[in-house]
Amino acid sequence: MIKVNENFSKLQESYLFSEIAKKVKQYETEHPDANVIRMGIGDVTRPICEASIKAMHSAVDDMGDSATFHGYGPEQGYRFLTECISRFDYAERGIQISSDEIFVSDGAKSDTGNIGDILSINNKVAVTDPVYPVYVDTNVMAGRAGEMTYEGKWSNIIYMPCTIENNFIPELPTSIPDVIYLCYPNNPTGTTLTKSQLKKWVDYALANKALILFDSAYEAYIQEDDVPHSIYEIEGAKKCAIEFRSFSKTAGFTGLRCGYTIVPKELTGYNENGEPVMLNKLWNRRQCTKFNGASYITQRAAEATYTDMGRKQIKETISYYMRNAKILRDGVEAIGLKAFGGINAPYVWVKTPEGLNSWEFFNKLLNECNIVGTPGVGFGPSGEGYFRLTAFGSYENTCEAVERMKKLNHKY
Ligand code: PLP
Repeated sequence: MIKVNENFSKLQESYLFSEIAKKVKQYETEHPDANVIRMGIGDVTRPICEASIKAMHSAVDDMGDSATFHGYGPEQGYRFLTECISRFDYAERGIQISSDEIFVSDGAKSDTGNIGDILSINNKVAVTDPVYPVYVDTNVMAGRAGEMTYEGKWSNIIYMPCTIENNFIPELPTSIPDVIYLCYPNNPTGTTLTKSQLKKWVDYALANKALILFDSAYEAYIQEDDVPHSIYEIEGAKKCAIEFRSFSKTAGFTGLRCGYTIVPKELTGYNENGEPVMLNKLWNRRQCTKFNGASYITQRAAEATYTDMGRKQIKETISYYMRNAKILRDGVEAIGLKAFGGINAPYVWVKTPEGLNSWEFFNKLLNECNIVGTPGVGFGPSGEGYFRLTAFGSYENTCEAVERMKKLNHKY
């Protein structure tokens, strides 16, 4: 008889986005003339840059000629791409990352989800709250999360609240975790840590032999100088951190699929006897066994983002989204609500008005302004009372959304 992985039955229904879709559909059915502006889901809308499009056309031609055809590539990614990553994303910031510490993949969701393969089920995991749900759900699937409690938390996961009260800066947990997920710039709050704030975490991880899983999928949105682009800007981080990056938000690759993970050779975990084991070796083995590399065409597209033209073009797109972020944040503040993020990230995190919880505010915005956002509680218990708006829409829709929100003005 087939036995299933019982951990899957513990997972909560993916309630958030399906519930949003259901409510929006119902609203649109009842109001067929409504022009609903969607600012909920974190997907980009601008096209892939010209440099990458050209590179892909040329890569397609390569595939059509036996002299330049590419079959299976290296599981870790083509050298032409890892060398660009090493040079432009790291060496230019004074960080030495060699090609064999870089693992190109089909995106950061897979990597942040799969990394648990190389870690013992007995590790105690800590997450910031609210959080990108993949970190939690993949630990539930692995059997590391324990049971769901009445508070909406997993019994074996340490939650580190990030709210107005601590200015969205997580406090060091009182019980010591083995694995800590940090995502900066943060999804969903759009907030960041400064170098000295991140250093506290690196020092803590080193002192406690803990591993930081650092997701910097939104690194390209950083505008301020004191915000680290990579955790390896902090001394000692190569001994305690794995970093995840993605071309999804950097270069609009959400539909193309390409990301990469850095596993420094200095980084070790420990076996049952307390002896150090190189995580780079384990991840390499995991990838070679379960992954056959990102496609050649996609990797050529990613390589092109590092050319002069590519860099200029992706920067323009990011500026476009960041202009939206500013319009959104200013607009939300202008109607008297508190807004966070949106300065180094494409997300604006709004405190819901007094007396309204996340879903009540969702309903209000949908009904009164025809705007769809994401209720903060969907990202974790500490997201209750907050609401996420994304800057990934068009400039015109963003301006229109802000105009519509003014209708709410007199009520606050
Ligand atoms: N990490 C974070 C924090 C995200 O918000 C997302 C996507 O929304 C991802 C990773 C997924 O990135 P990718 O498209 O590379 O899988």
